[in-house]
Amino acid sequence: MSHRHMTEEEDVLPDYDTDIDEVHPNQESADIRALKIPSTSIATVHESGFGEFLLKAELQRAISDCGFEHPSTVQHECIPAAILGRDLLCQAKSGMGKTAVFVLSTLNLMEKEEGKHITALVLTHTRELAYQILEEFNRFTKYLTHIKAKVVYGGVPVTHDKKELAEPPQVLIGTPGRVLHLVNEGIVNFKFVKHFILDECDQMLEQLDMRNDVQKIFKNTPHNKQVMMFSATLSDDVRGVCKRFMHNPQEVYINDQAKLTLDGLQQYYVNLAESQKNRKLVNLLDSLEFNQVVIFVSTVDRAKALNSLLESEKFPSICTYGRMDQDQRIEKYKTFKKFGSRIMVATNLFGRGVDFERVNVVFN
Ligand code: ADP
Repeated sequence: MSHRHMTEEEDVLPDYDTDIDEVHPNQESADIRALKIPSTSIATVHESGFGEFLLKAELQRAISDCGFEHPSTVQHECIPAAILGRDLLCQAKSGMGKTAVFVLSTLNLMEKEEGKHITALVLTHTRELAYQILEEFNRFTKYLTHIKAKVVYGGVPVTHDKKELAEPPQVLIGTPGRVLHLVNEGIVNFKFVKHFILDECDQMLEQLDMRNDVQKIFKNTPHNKQVMMFSATLSDDVRGVCKRFMHNPQEVYINDQAKLTLDGLQQYYVNLAESQKNRKLVNLLDSLEFNQVVIFVSTVDRAKALNSLLESEKFPSICTYGRMDQDQRIEKYKTFKKFGSRIMVATNLFGRGVDFERVNVVFN
């Protein structure tokens, strides 16, 4: 367990550029060739099994039900420290299995007699990612039925959360704005929080408003707790900010230089006039063999228009964007995740962290 000593001086966090790393095409050629992406996104696994972590039997069973045979590199490096309650700062590319690190370690440390208090608080920057984390908790609590996880995010009436949280879950996952609102309204109480987790922490700490929210929430939790932060990318500046929330963290940086590029990912671009884009896209969708495709666009209008165009060309397409009604957005996310549609047109609302395992082609 760690102690957090925040001095007055530290309270004022420095300002940072809010520029997000851009993914640049790494291929000069305008030709589009077949995209080769390995079937598994967990790049390196270890010979040892999950048994080495000596997790609770209920967790071991859930892990094998999920089909996880070997820990990924990041799990191998992080879980031993995390299950001892040590603070952890971890940077590893998307898809390396960071979520299971904090889900398994917090569940392993949760005592049965802890009762109905929020003991683990997970903050993340998008609603979709919050929802995905909830699903991961649900998978691993299959045999720990006394542990409940709930999710909160903006866009739904606060009265709904109030009703849902009347009986507090042990795990609360949420976006910073809504979580702070719930604290301020006295709807949630963080007096019993033992694990404070930020997933995709740089996304929250780089954005001034979210960083302030995170900090205010942090101050509502006890000093004595485990703090864990995860991210696909972590600049030196943000790394420094993260460590201010922690006490002697275990630091795990895997593939330090890597930006948001996945192993086996190949990037291509075609130079086109605006007027040629739709035709080219339709041709590519016709010729590429894909499982599922995500097409990122920059505006809501473009998302709607492109989706209608694809539908009129008989492609199984759905679209989602930030301004969409909350229930609808989650519904679309679920439909796509369950393979209910092959193509999703989206504004960049879940550019990071959300995992659609069947997607093998992405257009930007
Ligand atoms: P990250 O948080 O690093 O982006 P995720 O935790 O979302 O990665 O993991 C990516 C995918 O890999 C998820 O579908 C997850 O269920 C799966 N996964 C995680 N760990 C393992 C493992 N040890 N073996 C097999 N699959 C795994």
